[in-house]
Amino acid sequence: MKAIENQPCPLCESDAQSVPGDHGYRKHFSCSVCADFVITRAAERMLRSSASGRRTQLSQRARCAPADRVLEIRTELQPDQPKMLSDAYIPRARCST
Ligand SMILES: [Zn+2]
Repeated sequence: MKAIENQPCPLCESDAQSVPGDHGYRKHFSCSVCADFVITRAAERMLRSSASGRRTQLSQRARCAPADRVLEIRTELQPDQPKMLSDAYIPRARCST
């Protein structure tokens, strides 16, 4: 039994539910506006300090995911650069854990 938590969507701040996965490293959100998406903890923290334009863009990307895919938002470490937010559509089967 997974713990479903009510919490505001990190993308659009609407009411949403999150389910922790991957030993707490990621969360799977179900939002009434953005549909569903996966976000890592580090990315969630970074989003809070990101420009709202970036969040709007990610919200649109989450909604436009192909039926068998889900948007994953994560951070990417690049040599000699600050951490960056990145996102990609991942196969839906991978986010069920
Ligand atoms: Zn949302």
